[in-house]
Amino acid sequence: MQIRRGVEVTGITADDDGVDVQLAGGGPVRARYVVGADGGRSMVRRSADIPMVGPDASRSSLIAEVKVAGEPVQQGKVDARGIHGLYPMGDGMVRVVVTEASLGPATEPTLADLRQALSDVFGRDFGVHSPTWLSRFTDATRQAELYRKGRVLLAGDAAHVHSPTGGLGIGLGLQDAVNLGWKLGQVVQGVSGGDLLDTYHAERHGAGERALKYTMAQSLFQKADPRQEALRDLLGEVLRVDGAGAPIAALITGLDVAYDPGPGHPLLGRRMPDLDIATGAGPARVYGLLQRARPVLLEFGGPELELGAWAARVQHVKATYDGAWQLPVLGQVAPPTAVLVRPDGYAAWVGEGSADGLAEALATWFGKVGR
Ligand SMILES: Cc1cc2nc3c(=O)[nH]c(=O)nc-3n(C[C@H](O)[C@H](O)[C@H](O)COP(=O)(O)OP(=O)(O)OC[C@H]3O[C@@H](n4cnc5c(N)ncnc54)[C@H](O)[C@@H]3O)c2cc1C
Repeated sequence: MQIRRGVEVTGITADDDGVDVQLAGGGPVRARYVVGADGGRSMVRRSADIPMVGPDASRSSLIAEVKVAGEPVQQGKVDARGIHGLYPMGDGMVRVVVTEASLGPATEPTLADLRQALSDVFGRDFGVHSPTWLSRFTDATRQAELYRKGRVLLAGDAAHVHSPTGGLGIGLGLQDAVNLGWKLGQVVQGVSGGDLLDTYHAERHGAGERALKYTMAQSLFQKADPRQEALRDLLGEVLRVDGAGAPIAALITGLDVAYDPGPGHPLLGRRMPDLDIATGAGPARVYGLLQRARPVLLEFGGPELELGAWAARVQHVKATYDGAWQLPVLGQVAPPTAVLVRPDGYAAWVGEGSADGLAEALATWFGKVGR
């Protein structure tokens, strides 16, 4: 495999068999699949003609790293326009975020724009100069209609952009990548058919949609407005009611994500807890077993299970665990007798005293024919 760094993708052309990737100053390169992980203005997404839908921006902010005249001093302010601040970074540079008076254009901002915005808010521009970085972001909230279009897939900001409020962007993008990585690996190795990639859209689009909803609600509170402050205070009171904060905490951390759980044990389709278990090889953490990016069948007593043709692909670990099975939001659940854990940490099958459904789950997620 060749890794090319610092190479700009200028477009892609996809057909039924593969994708031609055009590169600045070279190419095209032919690929079987392309993952656009190229940020909010994704060239891959635009070339593949995948629409981004969602509410337009209502406000914009400038973000910069600059030098200031005189000693850098921390400043912060929240007003009817939004949040503003200057944060000395300890190396002579100052990180500046300032909300603009009106929605800025979709062009690159200038130092003059930054000086003006600072003067509007703080009454002075701090003599900002020598920017190493100057950009504009907005609260536009958009999501790609399709995370998969044939041989083109989108992940991270290429698939969803939103206000930075709440700091969800990186976690959301990493969860996309972790969900997609093992599936794409299996497809290119011929273990699974291409239809496994449809589950990427099915699972991650819904999770992204929910997170975007949260960022939109949260961004409302990032300015001084008596009515919004009243609503925030009221929500604060509601969240202090017993147990009411737990679902919101799980939403913010992404721990409430459930992939089409269907009927069955509550763990099905949810994130396997990172339990301290005892195995024949000694104590282990469940997530440690996932570091090889391979599925794991964890047997906790119960009937002896057979992996059959999948034994070469799926790790089989017999373990004991005596603690409580606690799931985010749901709380304590009945201890399962076995769990088939996908490489991304989600439960593909849960045993409740029998092997019923195990072969079907193995075929669905890890290839129909064992090799
Ligand atoms: C002000 C601000 C504060 C934020 N704070 C937080 C926070 O506290 N916590 C958090 O989780 N998230 C935060 N985010 C969001 C977070 O930065 C993004 O969600 C995250 O960086 C997205 O990662 P990504 O890899 O999908 O895209 P990006 O980080 O945008 O990376 C895309 C990469 O693709 C490359 N690329 C783009 N086009 C091409 C091309 N045509 N050819 C080749 N390469 C290309 C780019 O150079 C870049 O390296 C913040 C965002 C902003 C604007």
